[in-house]
Amino acid sequence: MGTEGKRKGRETLRQLAERWNLNVTHSLQMRLALGYSLLIAVLLVLMNTYPLIMSQNLMFRSQQTALANQAVLITNTLTTADELTTETVEQAINQLEELDVARVVITDQAGLVLYDTGKVSSMGKYVLTREIADALRGNNAFSGRYQDGMFSSRAASPVMNRNQVVGAVCLYEQDRDQGALLQELQRNLRLISVVVCLAVLALFGIFSNFFSRRVRTLLGGIRTVRAGEYTHRISMRGNDELTQLAEEFNQLTGRLQTTEEERRRFVSDASHELKTPLASIRLLTDSILQDETIDRETTREFVGDIGEAADRLIHISQELLELNRLDEGRAIRREAVDLNEQVEKVQRLLAPLAETACVNLQTHLGDKCMVLCNAEDASQILRNLIENAIKYNLPGGEVEVTTCHQGDWISLTVADTGMGIPEEDLSRIFERFYRVDKARSRSAGGTGLGLSIVRDAVRHHGGQISVQPRQEAGVIFEVLLPAWREEDGR
Ligand code: ADP
Repeated sequence: MGTEGKRKGRETLRQLAERWNLNVTHSLQMRLALGYSLLIAVLLVLMNTYPLIMSQNLMFRSQQTALANQAVLITNTLTTADELTTETVEQAINQLEELDVARVVITDQAGLVLYDTGKVSSMGKYVLTREIADALRGNNAFSGRYQDGMFSSRAASPVMNRNQVVGAVCLYEQDRDQGALLQELQRNLRLISVVVCLAVLALFGIFSNFFSRRVRTLLGGIRTVRAGEYTHRISMRGNDELTQLAEEFNQLTGRLQTTEEERRRFVSDASHELKTPLASIRLLTDSILQDETIDRETTREFVGDIGEAADRLIHISQELLELNRLDEGRAIRREAVDLNEQVEKVQRLLAPLAETACVNLQTHLGDKCMVLCNAEDASQILRNLIENAIKYNLPGGEVEVTTCHQGDWISLTVADTGMGIPEEDLSRIFERFYRVDKARSRSAGGTGLGLSIVRDAVRHHGGQISVQPRQEAGVIFEVLLPAWREEDGR
């Protein structure tokens, strides 16, 4: 293949990999395939070698025993002769019944063949095979070979006379039947290996296709969401880990979608809130600048209005900064705070507002209501809740602030007899910039951020907040903050 051919081949592979969203060298599928192939190759090699080796060993062992027995028979007969010669050996062998071996070779102590039943006789020659040499040194020797479907074995034993080696007996055996059986076994094992290989490959193909299709669905979903499509959800059937992963991913995307929507709404609400005072400032400054005949009194009035709009901007930015501080979730300072003391401080602070609004502000404080919080956040929570209870009240109305112990918690309730909150708005009043009565909130200097700050601050300190309509009139806010215990101070 020329360079051009190779380049085209690589290009096609790359395109295929891209179409399947696969990184050929690192994909999970590839690794699985390689791992499985290796495992199966090892298993097949074991399956094709171990049983054969074991059968061969068994065969050799049985031949060794048979030959050893026959060798003992012959050597026992020969030990009676003082010296081994062709005659003495033949005499001794003739006394034996027919021997059941392929060939018998008997040598004297120098390795000269005295007796040989082989087809090509080596009588009168010196034969020093490894086995005969071993036997002449006084040892029993055996060797076996399996080749072309035939088992060939050789066993040699020394012939002893008065503790002297006087010769050696070497027996040869060949077995074609057992060899044929082993060859049959070998063929069967190969056939089984091929079938197993094909079955495993087919199964792996089906499984890996199914698996990679699901992984591709997951990857596709992740990429779509990454591109900003937060409404996208992955649909995956089944009940395995990948389905669970898809479900987790969908939940995560759901949360991302909510956060993204909240962020957009927040930016739009915040811009809207800032736009109103900025537009008034612009309008008032234009009026002053463009009207050359404007008198001093009107100018003062307009500048006062500009100041009010600026105050409002400062108020909104302060509250936004406060929310940002709580959002950041930095490690907070927690200490023992006397909640009653904070209630009394806020009561003194808001007394003029309550008086102007003709609202009666009362407190019922429990014994030693110490909370694990910090003084600024406790005061912030109280100020927002009590100020709202006054702002959204009616002339002659009541505000009741109560503190008491409730197990591990300190409960703070702020109840009023004001205009109340419609059922459908109750769940939304803690949202940023949410107002039930927009006009009243604005005229009272509200930003729609107060209750969000309260909720975030309460949660920040591990507490809970809830709101309920009161049967008679108005609403009741309940805040639970963790009670301070002796061991918290250590
Ligand atoms: P605001 O700065 O407008 O007071 P908040 O976040 O404190 O903003 O409150 C959100 C909205 O919830 C208010 O605009 C008001 O409509 C409603 N609200 C809060 N507290 C009360 C209350 N005690 N009684 C009636 N309505 C209330």
